[in-house]
Order: sequence, then C-alpha cells, then structure tokens
Amino acid sequence: MAEETTGILEQPVTVLKGVGPAKKEALAKIGIETVGDAVRCWPRAYQNRGDTKTLAEIAALCRNGETGPFSAILTISTEPQGRYIRRGMHLTTARAFDESGTVSITWFNQPYVAGRIRAMGVYRFYGRFEWNAQYRKLSLNSPLSEPWEEGVSLPAIVPVYPVATGLTQRFMTDLTGRAISAAGGELWEFLPTPALEDLKLPAYAYAVRQIHRPDSLEAMETARRRLVFEELWLMFLSMAKTRADTKRPSGALRLTDTELGEFYRSLPFTLTGAQDRCVSEIVRDMAGEHLMNRILTGDVGSGKTAVAAAAAYAAARNGFRTMLMAPTEILARQHAEDFEKLFAPLGIRVALLTGSTKKKEKDLILDGLRDQPRMGEGISVLIGTHALLTEDVEADSLGLCVIDEQHRFGVHQRAALFEKARNVHSLVMSATPIPRTLTLAAYGMIDVSRIDEMPKGRQKIDTFIVNESYRERLNAFIRKQAAEGHQTYVVCPAVEESEPKPGEGEEMADTPLLDVMEEAPPMKNARQTADELTAALPELNIGFVHGRLKPAEKERVMAAFADHELDVLVSTTVIEVGVNVPNATLMIVENAERFGLSQLHQLRGRVGRGSAKSYFILVSDSEKPEAQDRLKAVKSTTDGFEIAEYDLEQRGPGDFFSECGPIRQHGQMNFRLAAACRDSEMIERASFYARQTAEDDPGLVKPENRRIRERLMEFGQKTEKTQN
Ligand code: ADP
Ligand code: MG
Repeated sequence: MAEETTGILEQPVTVLKGVGPAKKEALAKIGIETVGDAVRCWPRAYQNRGDTKTLAEIAALCRNGETGPFSAILTISTEPQGRYIRRGMHLTTARAFDESGTVSITWFNQPYVAGRIRAMGVYRFYGRFEWNAQYRKLSLNSPLSEPWEEGVSLPAIVPVYPVATGLTQRFMTDLTGRAISAAGGELWEFLPTPALEDLKLPAYAYAVRQIHRPDSLEAMETARRRLVFEELWLMFLSMAKTRADTKRPSGALRLTDTELGEFYRSLPFTLTGAQDRCVSEIVRDMAGEHLMNRILTGDVGSGKTAVAAAAAYAAARNGFRTMLMAPTEILARQHAEDFEKLFAPLGIRVALLTGSTKKKEKDLILDGLRDQPRMGEGISVLIGTHALLTEDVEADSLGLCVIDEQHRFGVHQRAALFEKARNVHSLVMSATPIPRTLTLAAYGMIDVSRIDEMPKGRQKIDTFIVNESYRERLNAFIRKQAAEGHQTYVVCPAVEESEPKPGEGEEMADTPLLDVMEEAPPMKNARQTADELTAALPELNIGFVHGRLKPAEKERVMAAFADHELDVLVSTTVIEVGVNVPNATLMIVENAERFGLSQLHQLRGRVGRGSAKSYFILVSDSEKPEAQDRLKAVKSTTDGFEIAEYDLEQRGPGDFFSECGPIRQHGQMNFRLAAACRDSEMIERASFYARQTAEDDPGLVKPENRRIRERLMEFGQKTEKTQN
C-alpha cells in the first residue's frame, strides 16, 4: 500500500525560512531534522513574564530573600554604557525606573545590548533582582528585555527551548513558530476518540499550539496533559506491537515435561501460595509460544530463590541449562550454596564461576558445560557474577537466564546480559517493590510476578523513630546486642562530605526525601559515624564499608561481618541487598530522612532473618512534618508494596520511571514529558487504550488507523535516534 503523501511534517527542516546548512547541523544535534521534529520540540520550561510587579514590590520581596526572576515594566533613564572592565569581561550598565522606584541594570558580556536599549525607551524586563541592604539599592542582573508599547500585548508565558551550540532561544522561538504555521493544516488527531473523551484531552493541533505559545498557564497544563498521555499511549502501543512479534525461536527451550513433584518434595519447606502462583506463571511462560520475559518481584526474604530454583529444575528436566547471575561474588556464592543444597539430592549438577575461580577449577567447569546437560551428567545450573559474561561460556543448550537484582549491574554488563539472554527465557529477580499501578508502565512488555506473601513464622521487626538525643541509648543498645552474641548494621547516607557521583556503583538510588537546604539537619557522614562508634565502643570490632572501596576490599569486609568477625558494620547503602546474615539483629539508619521509603524498607529486610528478635531504628533530626510522616509510614507497615504505593502518592510516578531501567530503553528524549507524569491514573488509562487499539488492529492496517501508524513510525524512529 504505497502512500506517497510526503506531508510538510516529513520535509527537511531546511524548508523553513532561516535554516541554512549551519543551523541544520546544529539542529540535528538536538534531534531536529524534519519540520515535524521542530513542531514536536517541546519547551523544556516556561518563563512567567506576564506577572509584572512594581520595583517597590520587588524590593520588598528581595528584602525577604527572594531573587526572582521577576518581571517589571521599566523606563530607561540613562543611555546604556558599555566598557571592558578587564580582558574578556564586558559590562553594560543602565538605570531604569517606574512609578515606585529605581533600579540599576548590569549586563555581563552582552556588548550588543547598548545598541538595543535606548534612553527613555520602555521595556518589559525579566531577570533576577538583588537588594543591597547597605546602600538600600535594588539591582537587576543580565535581564531579558522586550520593547513595550501601550496597547500592544506581549506574551505572558514564554517558552524556553532546549538549545545546542549555534542555537539561541530567539532562533528556537522563531523556528517553532514557523514550523507550527507551516504544519497548521496537518496536525491531525490520531488518538482514539474514546480516550480523548474519557480523559477530557484537547485535540492535537490545539495542544501543539498551546504548548509552544500558551495563552495561559492553565492552557499550557491542559496541552501538556494531552501530550503526556499521547507519549505514554504511543509507548504502550509500540510495546504491544513488539510483543506480538517476539515468537519463540526454533531451538529455544519449550517445556514439554512440567512435572515438578520431585522438586517440591525435596524442598525443606512448603512454598507459600504466592510462590506457588509465581512458579505456575513461569512454567506456563516456558511452555508457551513466546520466550519468557518476566520479572519476579518480592520483598527481601519472600523466597525468590526457591521460585527461580523451580524454574531451573524445570529447564533441567527438559534437558536445558540455566545460568544465574548475581551482581556480587558474595551473592553468587550464597545462591550457589542454596542451589547446591536443593539440587544435589536430585542429581542436578550446580557450578559456581566467578572472577576468583581458579584456572584449574574453571577448566573443569567449562568442560562440564560442553556435555549435554542431562540430569545426573553435565552441569545444569551455572551460577556466577558478570564473569559469566566475559568467559567464553558456551551458551549451547542454555534455556533459561536468571538475573538477580538486575539494576545493580552496570550499563555495559546489562547490555551484554541481554545479548546473552537473547534467545533464551529470561527471569529477572528484584526486591524493589513496584507499585501495582506502575508495573505495567515500568516494565511494559515484561510480565510481572509478585510474591506478596512472606513465608510463615517470620519475625516481626520492631521499628523505632528517634532523634540525636538517643545517641547514648543507641550505643548502649549496640553493646547489649553484642553481649548477646548478635550483630548490628549502621547505615549512613554517604561517605565523607560529598555525595558519590552517579554511576560510581554507589547506591544512592532513591531520591532523597528532602532537598538539602539549610534547614535540613547536618548530614552525618559514614566515616565520622564509624570513628565515633569506635571511640564510644572500644571493646567491639567495628568494620566500615563504603562505595569507594575496591570491590574485593568491600567483599572482604562484608565476608568478615557475615563470619561474625565484626560486631558492627558501618556502611553506606552499598551493603548488599541479598546478603544473608541471620545473626544481625539490629539496624540503625542515620539521617533516615535522606533515604527513599522503599530503600528503607529493603534495608529493614536485612535484619530479622534469624530466630532472635530484631530491631530497625531510624535516626532523624528532621522536624519537617513530611519527613516525619514518611518515616511513620515505614514504621506502620511491613508490606513493601504498600510502602511503594505510599511513596508513589507522595513523589509521583516520575521518580519511579527514572529509576527503572527498561524505560530508558525506550528512549529518554521521547519520554521526557511522560517522565514528569505525576498521575498514575493517566498511565493506566494510556495502557488500557493502547491495548485496546493493539487488540482491535494488531498490524494497524485498518484505514482509520493510518494516522496512528504514521505517528508510531515517527515515534519509533525518534526512539532509535535518541538511543544511538
Ligand atoms: P529473597 O526473596 O530475598 O531472595 P530468599 O529466596 O533468599 O529470599 O529466601 C529467604 C529465606 O526464606 C531462605 O532462607 C529460604 O530458604 C526461606 N524460604 C523461602 N521460601 C520459604 C517458604 N515457603 N517457607 C519457609 N521458608 C522459606
Ligand atoms: Mg535474593
């Protein structure tokens, strides 16, 4: 079906006035190649220049510590004077007034301003003001200016565009203006009418105009809502379509034998109902038409390992191998021990391969991998760290890839991981509880299994919220735990004064609860905490682990704690999520207000793993009611999903999105608007309507869906572009 309708939107941006070869190149850098791209170059912010104030009002605000930016209509009283105050530093100064006062204006390194601003001219200025208390004078720094005329209205809300070298705001404003005029007649509606009516969303053409040139803040908000919905909807639709295309490759494992009785009988416990349900979901996937692409979420201690083991057992029974990857050596080792215990009696061979596996042993393992993984013969379950990726582990007869705590792998490792798991069933395990309403959005075409029930007989962990005045008592409590032969974790938000840079492997994953403003309590750093504890409790063995330690050193300290060579482990949040130290009965979290709720909840999961009573103590001096409320939420429930829902309500889904890897694979640029979405109902509705469209017309071949097909193609290309 050839549709030779190259509309204006597909034409190169150079058809617009003012775009020559240089601009074309600069625009390409921010992903603008066609007129359509320019139309969809959404402002990244707005300036509210319409809310003009008098100088007297501004001076009053500035005396209260505000700096604006503010907008004012002023008359220039003196001809602007330009001069170089030193090489490379040019200053233009002028004075201006209104009926309520005067102000001195300074522009840095904008020598052309003098030619643009004339004495006795009236302008609308927009910029940051400052009040000098000593001289009782108001000043204005490098403001933006627009000539003002009685009776001619200036736009109140002015868009701010993303720019790159060679592009200015003025140019981008002109460009988008021209693009919209040119495309005016072709901004067709493509969303299904029921969706528009249901969510009371405006038409596409209206939304495009209002997002670029809003008549008011309300109109801008309405337009934004529509565009956010549209983006979500397109994303879900493209996922639904991709899904339909991922048939199981020939040669990939398809379970024919799904008998798990022997495995169940060998377990030292009975699976919980939730575990059972997850196992059947997994088995159903692996016996189905498509490759499994599933995430298994459940609180720390909810028993994800046993579920993964059931999947590995099923694969082994069907003559396929399972690879299980953990982010750290300690975790890999613990998994290997667990699996060994379960599988040895069943005659299933398990092997562990990490960076520190000796050559001789490694050769043996690699040999074992060459055999067909039949029960009782070759290696059926290979467990390891990312070393598994770099070794020439032949993935022959690999049927299932299980990944523990995927988000803790680096970006490159993750890519290699997906490569390896390309033609096999994949199961990702995560202790990060994702609110129910977000699972579909966060993971899209990944199916979600939730273990929302804890094994019976688990300890209830007592949670307390205290402040600094409890320090003595806290130390005494640590001493008491040690005297009873138990161990304590002390967790701090960061090492030393500064925060780790993102990507250093340090886990400051959750957004802090509060902006670090002056009124926030001083942050206790981990090193200082370790020093103070060592001084206060000289008779105890205290270890310190933080994100900047070398991995081997980190693991050494962790292992020392696990082996009870240490009584207390002071750490930043690097301590491993899955590490099991049943003898640890107390966890103290310093500056608890700086942690995300889900993070706190996961930390709590590290105590209460043995038979002794365990305690979780949140130390916070923050008096902000929000902070206190949030901490109380952690105290009042032990259900990770409930906490995640509360977190969602408080922070909005945007933060969850930014923490979810899979979303990024769908192009960050395109997701810019939706990432800021604070409305989970919108996400749900977008998913609902996208599925409806996909079910009704999977290939989008119906004539009435032509616009959708076009938009989806554009969306897909854009996504690819921004990924490369
Ligand atoms: P996580 O979900 O954090 O990975 P694990 O799989 O490590 O949790 O399980 C935590 C502990 O609970 C392990 O010691 C495991 O043997 C035990 N466990 C798992 N499932 C059950 C169950 N159904 N009944 C009793 N204990 C269980
Ligand atoms: Mg685990």
